[in-house]
Amino acid sequence: MTRYLTVIVSVFVILAPSLAAQRIPSPQQYFGFEMGSDRRLANWDELTSYYEELAERSQRVIVDTLGTTTTGQPFVMLTITSPENHARLAELQDIQMKLADPRMISSESELNQLFDDGKAVAMITHGIHSTEVGPSQMAARLAYTMASSNEERILEILENVIFLQIPSLNPDGLQWVNDWYNEHVRTQFEAAPLPWLYHFYTGHDNNRDWYAFTQDETILTVGAQNDWHPQIVHDVHQMGGNGARIFFPPYIEPWEPNIDPALTTAVSQLGTYMAAELTAQGKKGVVVNAQYDAFTPARAYMHYHGAARILSETASAQIASPTNIPPEALGPGRNFDASQRSWNFPDPWEGGAWGLPDIVDYQYSGALALLTNAAKNRRFWLENFYGVNKRAVDKWDAWPDAWVIPGNQENQTGVKYALRSLVMSEVEVAEAQEAFSVDGVDFPAGSYVIPMNQPYAGYANSMLEVQHYPDLREYPGGPPQRPYDVTAHTFGYLLDFEAVEVEGNLRVELSEPITAPDFDFQLPAHLNGVEAPRVAIYKSWQEPMPAGWQRWVLDQYDMAYDTLHDADIHSGALDDYDVLLFQAQDVNSIKNGFRLGELPRQYTGGLGDQGVQAVGSFVRNGGRVIAIEAATEFIAELFDLNISNLTSGLPNTEFYIPGSILRLELDSASEINEGMRDEISAWYWRSSMAYEVDDPRIRIVGRYGQGSPLLSGWVLGGEHIAGEAAILEADIGEGSLVLFGFQPNYRAQTVATWPLLFNAMRK
Ligand SMILES: [Zn+2]
Repeated sequence: MTRYLTVIVSVFVILAPSLAAQRIPSPQQYFGFEMGSDRRLANWDELTSYYEELAERSQRVIVDTLGTTTTGQPFVMLTITSPENHARLAELQDIQMKLADPRMISSESELNQLFDDGKAVAMITHGIHSTEVGPSQMAARLAYTMASSNEERILEILENVIFLQIPSLNPDGLQWVNDWYNEHVRTQFEAAPLPWLYHFYTGHDNNRDWYAFTQDETILTVGAQNDWHPQIVHDVHQMGGNGARIFFPPYIEPWEPNIDPALTTAVSQLGTYMAAELTAQGKKGVVVNAQYDAFTPARAYMHYHGAARILSETASAQIASPTNIPPEALGPGRNFDASQRSWNFPDPWEGGAWGLPDIVDYQYSGALALLTNAAKNRRFWLENFYGVNKRAVDKWDAWPDAWVIPGNQENQTGVKYALRSLVMSEVEVAEAQEAFSVDGVDFPAGSYVIPMNQPYAGYANSMLEVQHYPDLREYPGGPPQRPYDVTAHTFGYLLDFEAVEVEGNLRVELSEPITAPDFDFQLPAHLNGVEAPRVAIYKSWQEPMPAGWQRWVLDQYDMAYDTLHDADIHSGALDDYDVLLFQAQDVNSIKNGFRLGELPRQYTGGLGDQGVQAVGSFVRNGGRVIAIEAATEFIAELFDLNISNLTSGLPNTEFYIPGSILRLELDSASEINEGMRDEISAWYWRSSMAYEVDDPRIRIVGRYGQGSPLLSGWVLGGEHIAGEAAILEADIGEGSLVLFGFQPNYRAQTVATWPLLFNAMRK
């Protein structure tokens, strides 16, 4: 009898998981359509409910709400692994923390035990760019497979990998884009663009925030990475539709030099493996070693924290609507040609129909290939991760012994901003308890010291040293090879503070590592109180990203301002303001906006004649307009200013500045420059301008540096703008204009030039 009972119990135990699995609804059952169906998009409300359901019904899945997004949506992460691993998750997390910080490991035998017992930790993040709709739909399919499948391949992953899945890095945008699409599908506005930024402040720039950490979603994701220190982080994106079908690493040159070489090779092997699996499955158009470089840490937090960053980019359709790409549209990209077979693009796609089902299929296969590699090479990933962190703890020869940020610097906002970034990146920063000197340089008590023998020292070095971007050409003597993003991120210049590298033993008592200070934003006196100017920002239905970043900065300062749409300006709203700001937006976009028929009528038309006239009257009657970069052309046209952009028409072989930091010389007589040194650093990129001025109404109050204006990054033909006009002031009627040729608020990082903007906001 006893024996009989035992048998019954065993049978029950074996059957229980598969019975549970049968109760897990597939996306098809839950949503009523397969993830990755033409013209069908699940929104965030539905997706989060589905993930809750998976967690309830599968012993492999837990779902955590890490916090809330900018507009208050839940921001969630799934932790997916075998039930056995779930039962010892805290222990596995401890192993990971020790491998991340080799100083915590006391012996060779302990280390080997950690390698034996640990699991590879792989994070996949989906849908940061909300109009790239595939990844966040694919996320549900992938989660379902991992929760329910008993295929050998999946069981191997579950046993060897802790899979952290962030099914949307931008839930706000997912909800907006998918609701907008679903509202307009099968109407004349099917696949029409969303007429506002799909991240409340940053739009598409939301993946350029991975060292400034300004946005809630970035902070939550970085927090999750710091809690686990994954060995692999895969960010799933989409790209334009006229090239390869999917990209995986290796990246093209350059790599940022503080990234460990063993991560470069690990990234390259993993990306190549993913490409190999897809190509072997018969998926055409897979490219590696093309398009995307690995220079800026703004997109690559993981590369400074022991993890391989795998970017994948799949060709887009029209949101969720299918497209048809004619073969002749497929042409050259960077380091490959989509119309020709090559080693890094061995099986070209010939063109034809392409849609969301293809996108989700490719992305799903890529994600499974990545998890398979992590499972099969579990020990490699752990050992390599440890090796990267160990070399950092031992300090690279290329790094100084320490960085010191002198105390008592004038610009505390910049210092706090930098310290916050370093500490949030788990860089250990200590405060000197007394004055000290190294190599004859004196530092006051309260200086901040960053010893460089620590796990994430590479991050500190990358942010504190001055970047010099290599002069890369498409062929010898040819045009510059366009960097994927910008070429400089030197914190000292962007944030306007001093950091000093020092060698040798520091004889000074240090505090325990400090905690992250908050931004130290304090509004200038003239923008406070009843006398403060009433400020408005123009808010187009094609709002440029810098306008969103502008709103973020002003919100951090708790500054009162309003945003004005075209309709507000048409109905006389400008009467209630003293200052109107136009962020970088071109003339046509400001004046005409979306065309009638392109979007529903209320989002079309731009400022139009009526709005343009209202802006003209606003200034003539005493208002002040501040305009930045392209918007200065709109203002120049409106008031017939005799100015021109000195660099327009120059070929890029002669003049090229793709995101660099330049010297700026300021005229101390202007109130715009009040409280500023006469030489500071400024952000110049492809959309910036240097002016030729021939107009008696205009005063030049800032110029790009004489000689070579470059401080950090890459400049070709700097002599074309050296000493030329960068900031202009003009009086028009009763009012006035301030024009910036460069971007004084680049991605909320140019603390150095914010005071110019604040000073410009005057009655
Ligand atoms: Zn993207």
